[in-house]
Amino acid sequence: MLSLKGIVKKYEIGQFKQTALDGIDLEFRDQEFVCILGPSGSGKTTLLNMIGGLDRYDQGDLLINGKSTRNFKDQEWDSYRNHAIGFVFQNYNLITHISVLSNVEIGMTLSGLNSEERRKRALQVLERVGLIDHINKKPNQLSGGQMQRVAIARALANNPEIILADEPTGAIDSETSKQIMELIQEIAKDKLVIMVTHDENIAKKYANRIVSLKDGKVIADTNPYKNNLIGSAKLMFEKTSMAFTQAIKLSFNNLKTKKFRTLITAFAGSIGIIGVALVLSLANGLNREIDRLERTTLAEFPIQIDPFPIDIEAARGGPPGFQDNGDSEWERFPEILKIFPYERTVSTTQHINLINDEYLDYLSTMDTRLYHEISVTRQVEMSVLHKIDSTPIRLQTGRVRFEPSLNNDEFFNDNYDILMGTAPKNKNELILLVDEFNRLNVQVLSALGLSSDVEAYDFDTFIGKTFKVVLLSDNYVLDENTNRFVQVSDLHTLYDNPNNIELTIVGIARAKEDALSRFLRPGIKYHPDLIQSYLADAKTSEIGIAQKNSNTSVITGLPLSDSARTSLLRNLGVDDTPSQIRIYPVNFDAKEEIRVFLDAFNHGKAESERIIYTDLASIVTELTGDIIDGIAYVLIAFSAISLIVSSIMIGIITYVSVLERTKEIGILRSLGARKRDISRVFNAETSIIGFVAGSIGVFIAFLLTFPINRLIRTVVEDLNNLAVLPIEAVFLLVFISILLTYISSLIPASLAARKDPVEALRID
Ligand code: ADP
Ligand code: MG
Repeated sequence: MLSLKGIVKKYEIGQFKQTALDGIDLEFRDQEFVCILGPSGSGKTTLLNMIGGLDRYDQGDLLINGKSTRNFKDQEWDSYRNHAIGFVFQNYNLITHISVLSNVEIGMTLSGLNSEERRKRALQVLERVGLIDHINKKPNQLSGGQMQRVAIARALANNPEIILADEPTGAIDSETSKQIMELIQEIAKDKLVIMVTHDENIAKKYANRIVSLKDGKVIADTNPYKNNLIGSAKLMFEKTSMAFTQAIKLSFNNLKTKKFRTLITAFAGSIGIIGVALVLSLANGLNREIDRLERTTLAEFPIQIDPFPIDIEAARGGPPGFQDNGDSEWERFPEILKIFPYERTVSTTQHINLINDEYLDYLSTMDTRLYHEISVTRQVEMSVLHKIDSTPIRLQTGRVRFEPSLNNDEFFNDNYDILMGTAPKNKNELILLVDEFNRLNVQVLSALGLSSDVEAYDFDTFIGKTFKVVLLSDNYVLDENTNRFVQVSDLHTLYDNPNNIELTIVGIARAKEDALSRFLRPGIKYHPDLIQSYLADAKTSEIGIAQKNSNTSVITGLPLSDSARTSLLRNLGVDDTPSQIRIYPVNFDAKEEIRVFLDAFNHGKAESERIIYTDLASIVTELTGDIIDGIAYVLIAFSAISLIVSSIMIGIITYVSVLERTKEIGILRSLGARKRDISRVFNAETSIIGFVAGSIGVFIAFLLTFPINRLIRTVVEDLNNLAVLPIEAVFLLVFISILLTYISSLIPASLAARKDPVEALRID
């Protein structure tokens, strides 16, 4: 069945070549007991390993049933070892961390036998070698003779046709040796047994053929055999493979023998997981808290509709007027004393809500149970006149952003540079604010009667420009027919009215490069005192008193909190469009319904006709949520570093484990395990550690949330159980832990797989 033809094997040790086998020609019968006899170093072990497919020959050929093995692939050798060969070694080579029974079963698991069949066969062979009473012991609880019987049982278990034994009695006392030899002799009755020994007595007593070896050559053969079977007999062994469950079982048993180290490793690996889990718990809790805040405290915060709705994206990006697309063409903070006209591109044009009667009618159809109140604020703009080519016209104050500048001079000076002239010091002085590129919107320019075709305007064009504020009492006359106040239409007379407050642009300003706040939008800003003068008149004017109990009105720029002024202005009943609507929802769910209702209005409407509302509460919570998420990401990134460090550590520990289990690798290979099965064992081992690390991590994080929550409660009283680890995070983190340790084991596992089985077995 086996035939060796001119086998040569050389070992290279540095420059020197050691010839271990030097042209071996041998053939074996299907059933015989052959002893390979020879002094130490004569090549016996090398020959046996060659026959068993553990080692590769350099020249010649090994024929199995007449089939050449010259072109055998790893996989074929693995199957050959598993199915056709049973190895018995001098030093037993049992896996120490699993039971006697498991040791005998392990070769069969590689050939894919089911557990019932494995157990049946293992018990059979253990019975045969007389160890049926010791099946649950670990190998180190047995005597040398018993251990060798286990090894023989293991060699027999898969019912191979060939048993290879390398000095099986070398480490056993003579009395026990006798029993072992009798057992082997018994086995040789129906198998080919090739046994290596240096003991001539043993060879003579038990073998029916003695092959003597010297310096890698056959020097004698007591019973030679020549069949010369050369053909192409098909040699089909089933492929071997280790099931992942088997790899897990092996690794689990191995880890059990070093519980402490495993636990320490897993604990170290869990630290990053703990960090990430705690950050997730806190972020989860804070977001939940904000959500709750929005549902409860902030639920009755009004939804507001303003002429210029707050653009949430712009609010995130910076102050208004500072995030136009295409700004890159402009020079920022130029030194030149000129103003540039520019036209905003459509995409950045701020939306203007045109609140009209249609919208008010629409609002009146809303379910009244959803809101406490809808407050509509109407405003009267100050009437400001100026002359373009000596013709007085009303200034479109909304377009030029004719608004109050800051009350606080110091704050203004800190944040704005006066590029020319001075800041407004009294009610008669105005300042022109340009953007960071010295630009003014063409709308502003055209309202001031300036063409936008000019490339740039000198600052002088604006300094000294005058305007007149017409007092409320002069601007309106009572229409006898309708009994309502209407605006005076003769602008020449109105312009020359001596009561008017005259205003002059005294300076040009721009936000500083490092300004903390740039919330003033470019345009014309007036001194806050102007309002006082304007109101002093309005308070006593006929129109103010006459229109008591009419519509709510507010004058631009008034602080709404000032109740005295507010009540005064309520009396000003000038028919005008609403400038601001506030809807106060009864609760959070009602607010959601109101939003749906308001959205429905915009359906199918052109962009410019839509009414965009602002839910300040949701903006606040969204922004806060974003901030919390941002902080969480940073913290998670920090924890991730410790995750990586622990992964590297686990990789190193796995490598240590590979070194420790080198012998086991050799044993598994001799039993027919593939390289891939070996790496699988180590991947399984780290996966177990990863699982334990992940589980410990989330468990400790869970335990830590209790003291953390107690601590938070002492600081903020009504924050109960803030940190809660979401259940999805538990699974995710355990998975991540397994994945990371798996990745970290890839290198050591592949090193293990590449170990030479012969070398591995030589380790003691
Ligand atoms: P035996 O089993 O008969 O004592 P071996 O087969 O173990 O002999 O060794 C035969 C020769 O090959 C010896 O000279 C030994 O030193 C050499 N040899 C065996 N294995 C190796 C190896 N891995 N590297 C180098 N030399 C080796
Ligand atoms: Mg030897």
